[in-house]
Amino acid sequence: MRKVSFRGLITGLGLAICASAGQALESTEADPASTQAVATETDEAAAAETDEAAAADDPSATGDAPTSAPIEDDQATLEGAAATDITIAPDPAFLLLDQRVQPGSRARVPWRSGASFIGDSMEVPISVVHGAKPGPILCLTGAIHGDELNGVEVIRRVLGALDASDLVGTVIGVPIVNLAGFSRGSRYLPDRRDLNRFFPGNPNGSSASRIAHDFFVNIVRRCDALVDFHTGSFDRSNLPQVRGDLRLSTVLELTRGFGATSVLHTPGAPGMLRRAATDAGIPAVTFELGAPVRLEPVEIEHGVTAIETLMNNLGMTQRVRQWREPQPIYYESRWVRAMRPGMLFSDVKLGDRVRQGQRLGRVVNPLSDEVSELVAPVRGRVLGMALNQVVLPGYAAFHVGEEASEAQVIRDAALVPTPTVETERMDEGATSPPEEGSTEQVDEYDDGEEGGPTE
Ligand SMILES: [Zn+2]
Repeated sequence: MRKVSFRGLITGLGLAICASAGQALESTEADPASTQAVATETDEAAAAETDEAAAADDPSATGDAPTSAPIEDDQATLEGAAATDITIAPDPAFLLLDQRVQPGSRARVPWRSGASFIGDSMEVPISVVHGAKPGPILCLTGAIHGDELNGVEVIRRVLGALDASDLVGTVIGVPIVNLAGFSRGSRYLPDRRDLNRFFPGNPNGSSASRIAHDFFVNIVRRCDALVDFHTGSFDRSNLPQVRGDLRLSTVLELTRGFGATSVLHTPGAPGMLRRAATDAGIPAVTFELGAPVRLEPVEIEHGVTAIETLMNNLGMTQRVRQWREPQPIYYESRWVRAMRPGMLFSDVKLGDRVRQGQRLGRVVNPLSDEVSELVAPVRGRVLGMALNQVVLPGYAAFHVGEEASEAQVIRDAALVPTPTVETERMDEGATSPPEEGSTEQVDEYDDGEEGGPTE
């Protein structure tokens, strides 16, 4: 039921959306080019989703209670049975972690992870704004990497500015998922594991895996769409950019809502929150904003405007902020790595447009005075870059995006099943978690050594 309303709202944009293999395009208003692009990609992506989509569309599900949350299902069913009518009346209150949020109101709900952090239990505050009218449930998550701060402030501002009486649907904001890491200024959990490698988690797994599982079952499963905020990692900075698996029609549709924001296709590695969410049938993207450890006003402002634009495009709000360029810009991208060790000095800034062959920076070896140059492999835009620092051979220094049509990006995404996995390793977490039960610690500077120098 909630899926239908989500689709319906998006379809109201005049954009076609297909979430299951057997479903025809719903919109007749979409322009032919974008409709075609969606249609060509629908079948394969949707085939993998059919089960989840079918489950989500199960009419026996009561409003916002997913099939995988039996406790909430039971409660919702009891409430439905208590209603005067035989038909199940959806409970207008929003139930999260045993707390009810009435329509047109907001609440702060504490999430206590199933696992404890080094002996003490930590309450992670979750903000819920439950609109007066029913609609999609949008989830915003930040600081899964505890040192990535821009998203924390974006979520805080977005939630703070919402008027529950005007809102259609529900917004769940978790500004700081990894509160233990945040409080220590660390990317990681206290056990030095990267939380964004453990979703959807396992109730009997490692500490990180249990935390991931608890969060996934109790919060993520409630979402109709999810935006997970990150920044570059390890002294790298990213131009504001949305990343998602554009082979999935629901994810593609979601990326169209962010206004003038760069969009990259990256499929997402196992263990990442957005990958686990899409595997569960929930459209999800990562929103990269700036660099870790710092708070950057320009990036934060971009994030706030993009999310407000998204909510508007989802039909949740009426307020429209004007972008100079209202459309997202789709990119194909590649990394440029240092070939020699030394000190990196950049010639370019984040967001610069560069020519093919243009020098991006120099690497100066202080021991030999040897100087090597890094050049742009294509004409494009600097979407991500390392801050000036000492680098070793292979260090990914510049992320250059080539502007492409949405249709082109989608076509190429389908041709290459798992491209640039390490793009995500760099910013969203590594691909291969340590084996469950092992005490192996995470390498602080594991920035993704697999793959070729520019992939
Ligand atoms: Zn991150």
